[in-house]
Amino acid sequence: MTSISTVQPESGRAQAPPDIQPIPDIKELQTGLHGEVCLRGEPGYETARTIWNGMIDRYPDVVVRCADADDVARAVRFANDHNLGISIRGGGHNIGGSAVGQGGLMIDLSPMKSIRVDSEARRAWVGPGATLADVDRETQQFGLALPVGINSTTGIAGLTLGGGFGWLSRPFGMTVDNLIGADVVTAEGELVHASATDNPDLFWAIRGGGGNFGVITSFEFTLHPVGPEVFSGLIVHPFGQAPELLRQYREVVADAPDELTVWCVMRKAPPLPFIPAEWHGHEVLIFAACYAGSNADGEKAAAALRGIGNPIADVMGPHPFVGWQAAFDPLLTPGARNYWKTHDFTELSDGAITVITEAVSRLPGPECEVFIAQVGGAMARVAPEATAYPYRNAHFVMNVHTRWRDPAEDAACVAWARELFDAVAPFATGAGYVNFMPADESDRIEKVYGKNYQRLVEAKRRWDPQNRFRLNQNIKPN
Ligand SMILES: Cc1cc2nc3c(=O)[nH]c(=O)nc-3n(C[C@H](O)[C@H](O)[C@H](O)COP(=O)(O)OP(=O)(O)OC[C@H]3O[C@@H](n4cnc5c(N)ncnc54)[C@H](O)[C@@H]3O)c2cc1C
Repeated sequence: MTSISTVQPESGRAQAPPDIQPIPDIKELQTGLHGEVCLRGEPGYETARTIWNGMIDRYPDVVVRCADADDVARAVRFANDHNLGISIRGGGHNIGGSAVGQGGLMIDLSPMKSIRVDSEARRAWVGPGATLADVDRETQQFGLALPVGINSTTGIAGLTLGGGFGWLSRPFGMTVDNLIGADVVTAEGELVHASATDNPDLFWAIRGGGGNFGVITSFEFTLHPVGPEVFSGLIVHPFGQAPELLRQYREVVADAPDELTVWCVMRKAPPLPFIPAEWHGHEVLIFAACYAGSNADGEKAAAALRGIGNPIADVMGPHPFVGWQAAFDPLLTPGARNYWKTHDFTELSDGAITVITEAVSRLPGPECEVFIAQVGGAMARVAPEATAYPYRNAHFVMNVHTRWRDPAEDAACVAWARELFDAVAPFATGAGYVNFMPADESDRIEKVYGKNYQRLVEAKRRWDPQNRFRLNQNIKPN
């Protein structure tokens, strides 16, 4: 007997919970599993299907909360034998909600959080359920760190598979540049190793190609000495001066050493204690900066940035690295409704500045923001064909982060993001970061991988010819 359930990546919010699909042979799946099987109504099911983006409201037929690689292999084989669509949940942060499907079998990796650090070899072995906070906490025990993203509740798995960049990428490369090897459960349900010497085509593909090629059950990373403090913080400016501030910003960052990374955030000022109350709720431009080196060098390197304009607040200073990694968490809590759009820019042109600042002057809600991330440095010194992640030139990544609470605002918020995306497109490269793309951009995949796309298709044909792993930014085998 087979189930006809399939995963439907396009569906976002379910109108009403679908009927429960009976899963045949479910007892057979539970037998021998170290983790647990959860069906609708059972403990663990709701937690597993609830992810960061509150717009995603889907019901898998069955959730397998995996305890180890053997559980993952059993889950994949069971899904194959019963013709169940597969979704894979790491940290559950993907904006398109690809961790959870409507129907099918969810492989929930969140119980697999173990992290082991070899401080002498500067290596870490990380389970696919770990968050960035888990990684930072363990590695900082030894004064080491891995370049990851800027929100500590993000999952290491999805972040790594798409590329991964944040405060340490300019000095030490992207997360994928620090990946040494991975254990992977294939579409056939077999466990293989991927590294520069073992299955190198698979190793190449998982460094940017997303979850298209298998389920990663362990990551091995190289680490770098960082902290325990980093010179870091925020500088808040009135938004009225934004165009001029952005023009000065592009000059300052053009000359910045690799250790200094400066991102720019434009939004309505949240009620944070260091922002004077009269600014709360008004548009501001915030420079967020981090120096990965000594505090004294950081203070010198940040001087030019701190000399720009007349800030409302400047809270740059030495901060614990782990704390700085979580600094944005209060603004990025799970459960809100979110829709994102992203572009890459090789330069922050006057035209782009005009379009972006005009859009920010009419934000559709108090939690909406536009992020501009500065990347380059070490990450730009890797050849574009060395990993599946292709865009290695120094550039800026814009994330239009639309965030709201009331479903009645869906249409207006999504329309604002799309309008800004379209209006600024003439100044952008056409490339984009797959990890910031919503589910409705499948027609962009070939373009964002550029010259690496065909090689990804070849890897897909070898490792997942039937496209069993398709709930992602999908690379089709044919
Ligand atoms: C608030 C916020 C801030 C962010 N900031 C940054 C940032 O600073 N830098 C950055 O680079 N990115 C950032 N991101 C983007 C982030 O990298 C992606 O959302 C990423 O997909 C999250 O991974 P996850 O494991 O949490 O998500 P999930 O939704 O669990 O997984 C993402 C995708 O990967 C697949 N997947 C997950 N685990 C595995 C696995 N073990 N094997 C195979 N496939 C798997 C899933 O099926 C899914 O398709 C941010 C995201 C959010 C929501």
